[in-house]
Amino acid sequence: MGFKHSHSLGQNFLSDGNLLAAIAADAELSADDTAVEVGAGMGALTVKLASTGARVFAFEIDSRLEEYLRPLEATYPRLTVTFADFMKCEPDFGGDYKAIANLPYYITTPVLFRFLDDPHCLSVTVMVQKEVAERMIAPPGGKDYGALSVAAQLAGDVRITRRVGRHMFDPPPNVDSAVVRIRKTGQTDESVKRLVRAAFSMRRKTLVNCLSGAGYGKDSVLSALSALGLDPAVRGERLTPPQFVRLTGLLS
Ligand code: SAM
Repeated sequence: MGFKHSHSLGQNFLSDGNLLAAIAADAELSADDTAVEVGAGMGALTVKLASTGARVFAFEIDSRLEEYLRPLEATYPRLTVTFADFMKCEPDFGGDYKAIANLPYYITTPVLFRFLDDPHCLSVTVMVQKEVAERMIAPPGGKDYGALSVAAQLAGDVRITRRVGRHMFDPPPNVDSAVVRIRKTGQTDESVKRLVRAAFSMRRKTLVNCLSGAGYGKDSVLSALSALGLDPAVRGERLTPPQFVRLTGLLS
């Protein structure tokens, strides 16, 4: 096709019409919605989103893709494509929106946290590396459970809607992927986020040591753990997302 894919920009494109339609369906878009897409590529997913009649804001960092994306704006008047680094933009979408993307792997985590943190973002439907998807749905106690699991699960209902093999991408990456959808139900308080970050800052240490190292009083943490019926030597990876919220409340 003459286009030289950039590995460093995570340019692994999709072209299977059924898969693209299924991802758009996972996002539950209707004509009343606003959709935000990070990394439009050649526009394969963008077209499916715009076809729903939704207002679509698509972002693409690589201006070489203008020749594929600009013509789509003429076909879909409710589509706006911005050629910029999404992580450096602070756009106002005029209200609530749903985030949808086949994310470039190198910015998966910051993009996810940005959408989780934004109260205007109603849902997140993203293709991510399979391992990231597993971390997002991981239950407490296992090696996959961490700050991203807690953040995603506190944000709302998280599920893997489909698993996608590497052969579905052009060029195929070295990893398999999955689509994760988070239907957000609320916002997580900054104080909870701070505590969760501290709890997973040193995975081999006990929760008490992690939290006291981050400035929480050791005695207060011990008495809060006791009030929650938790072992004083518990590690952060054992606490459920609601327990993190209760612990924050007790320490505030
Ligand atoms: N949506 C297309 C698809 O599904 O075929 C392309 C997905 S591809 C995995 C990721 C796209 O994100 C690439 O086109 C890449 O150039 C773009 N991209 C990478 N970093 C970006 C950034 N910081 N801001 C906006 N787009 C970015």
